[in-house]
Amino acid sequence: MSGDILQRTSTLTLNIKHLDHIRCLADHIYSSLPSPGPTVAASQVPGLFREPFILSGYRPVRQDWRCYLLSVFQRHNESLNVWTHLLAGPVLLLRWRANVGALGYTLDAAFLPLSLFLVSACTSLFLSVAAHLLQSHSEHAHYFFFFMDYVGVAMYQYGSSLGHYFYTSEAAWRESCVGPLFLPGAAFFGWLSCAAYCFAKARYRRPYPLRRKICQVIPATLSYLLGISPVVHRLLTVSWTQEPAQPLLALQIASFLLCALFFSCPVPERFFPGRCDFVGQGHQIFHLFLSLCTVFQLEALFQDYARRRDAMVEVFGAGQLWWACVSFPALFVCCVLTALVTMRHMDKKLAEHQDDGSSRKPTNAYDVNRTTTDGAGGSNGLATTNTGGGNDPAFSTWRDHKGMPASTLERPKAYAN
Ligand SMILES: [Zn+2]
Repeated sequence: MSGDILQRTSTLTLNIKHLDHIRCLADHIYSSLPSPGPTVAASQVPGLFREPFILSGYRPVRQDWRCYLLSVFQRHNESLNVWTHLLAGPVLLLRWRANVGALGYTLDAAFLPLSLFLVSACTSLFLSVAAHLLQSHSEHAHYFFFFMDYVGVAMYQYGSSLGHYFYTSEAAWRESCVGPLFLPGAAFFGWLSCAAYCFAKARYRRPYPLRRKICQVIPATLSYLLGISPVVHRLLTVSWTQEPAQPLLALQIASFLLCALFFSCPVPERFFPGRCDFVGQGHQIFHLFLSLCTVFQLEALFQDYARRRDAMVEVFGAGQLWWACVSFPALFVCCVLTALVTMRHMDKKLAEHQDDGSSRKPTNAYDVNRTTTDGAGGSNGLATTNTGGGNDPAFSTWRDHKGMPASTLERPKAYAN
């Protein structure tokens, strides 16, 4: 009896010691982590990082990388852009698990497009989170992570097209003139949208000209119209009571149209400048509807997969299913290469601008004030030279989107930590 008590006491002592070790380790890790700097006003970051009508809540540039990672728990103007997509990932995976449990699956060629759709959606969400979380580090990081975000968008477009083709399309649509060209066309337009977004981002500076919008919108619209054509055809030709996925497909289209609206127009912040700095930005609403659209899409694809899986290999042939799936990583490689080539070009431009900026001296009182007060940006040639900013607003720290002096923009920090 006493031996038993002694053994229990020693086990308890060991457990307490373990807990102490874990607590010490946690304290050590916590104390060694840098803490993200307080957020600043739009006038205190380079023009490249400023968003129209968002006046505060910016994270300072050139902090330690870990500060941007930890800023996931900080209150700043990108917080909800990060969290809307960060939470969409687990939601998608939980719905996937629930559907697999309820409808079942077999690991064969018929299941591959569905798996690729999930991979494409998760890749897109992950790259979007990375872009919104890490882009504030520097001009290089901003371009790199947004170029990668465009790769994610292209992959999501193609993943959706694979799902629409193999699970949603009707035989009449596949036999039309669009059917045979659909998959190569979807891959081409997916790559083209990625290339056009990268080009437009690298080419144009704020205030963005209409050409930039046209450059981005045309390939993206063509890609979407082609990708959604089997869904629209099905909604128009098949009875809504006949197939359970029909309402989900309609909801998918409705949420995507709302996505497009909030992506292209900076509302509601346009009407309330400075009031949507933390919550209420059009881009956050765009993220929410995009996440909803993806969930509706997943549900609809599962419904169609469950009804059609037995006939899929017979209808399409295993060869076509496997080829379509090989094209997925091939497109990914093409898009990544395109993003890297554009990044290389951008790095040269940034280096040229830095050389240009460091060789120039302040030419007026405004510049003198600029170069002597901006401690944070002082190490950054791009951010310290307002002289170049007159021609290139993306690199100007002290002018707002309309070229107004910073003094007119200065506001109290809305939510400095
Ligand atoms: Zn985004």
